[in-house]
Amino acid sequence: MQGRGLALAVLAAAAWIGEPAGRQNTPRQDAPPPVEAGAAAPQDAAPQDAAPQDAVEGDETAGDTAAADDAAAEGGATEGADAEDAPPEPPPEILEIGDGLYVLPYCGNATLRVTADGVALVGDRLAQYRAEIARLLATLTDQRIAYELHTHRHGADDDFAAAAPGSRRLGPVGGGAPPREPAATPDIVFTSRLSLFLGDAEIRLRHVGGGHSGADAVVAFPDRGTVHAGHLVTDGPPFIDYASGGSAGGWIQALDDLLALEFDTLVPGAGPVLEKGDAQAFRDRLVTLRTRIEQLVRRGVAKEDAVRRLETTDLGWPLDPAGDFVRETLPGLYDEVAGGP
Ligand SMILES: [Zn+2]
Repeated sequence: MQGRGLALAVLAAAAWIGEPAGRQNTPRQDAPPPVEAGAAAPQDAAPQDAAPQDAVEGDETAGDTAAADDAAAEGGATEGADAEDAPPEPPPEILEIGDGLYVLPYCGNATLRVTADGVALVGDRLAQYRAEIARLLATLTDQRIAYELHTHRHGADDDFAAAAPGSRRLGPVGGGAPPREPAATPDIVFTSRLSLFLGDAEIRLRHVGGGHSGADAVVAFPDRGTVHAGHLVTDGPPFIDYASGGSAGGWIQALDDLLALEFDTLVPGAGPVLEKGDAQAFRDRLVTLRTRIEQLVRRGVAKEDAVRRLETTDLGWPLDPAGDFVRETLPGLYDEVAGGP
């Protein structure tokens, strides 16, 4: 799946620096086998189940769930059967996915659009990765970062602090409570659509409402047929930041807005670079998840029992009791579809 249809050039493959320090809402920490499962769901998965109602029970697949949990605990997608045959190669640190367009997989899939007049940097929690991004950028160009484009807002956990010298920070307006640090706010916010013209590139930002967080945006590179989706698409279970104004309904709508754009290549907030169809598959899995919760609510299953009755393995989102998916997303989703806590 990784790099399907793309010519991914490894520009730098120095020693792997390891995973960045995770945060509780950083989706890569759960890292299940992602898109392959999603590509088949939900339509393809439905016939395997006798009926949608049975799908939420999931007793017959309890073993699969445990196995998937183990796989996730051991490192998830990187621990596949293929890894047994060949020694692991150092993961690439820079992927070129288009002329002047680069993804940094170990910096939260931060994306660089390099032009003759400066660099636009797209991502989330960019301050956390700042030193590493600067090191990698220096291997590509002497140009400085002109814009830092943040894909979403986690309210008090916003991370706009310490922008690169001379750069301007942009982010979607909204996102719940203001950051704890007054300086940790974007320099420029946008409410709907915004185009930046940098060198010969146009970069389009689109506010797609609150879904994963309280304010989500996607960033399009129309001359490269690519969109950065932030955490609206990842290789892990969906984390819905209800405290900042996120919701499943908003997330699905945001993905519909994303899918209305023209593009071929999708940079997710975590995991391998994807194609447009993968965003559709992620959306469909999210709809299936919400439908299953709705069925449990309609049957009167209490919130504390709902997770036990829920089947998510076929969606590629195993139920880890310690993960945010189980502790925060699913209880919040139950309340969302039930009409309140
Ligand atoms: Zn996020």
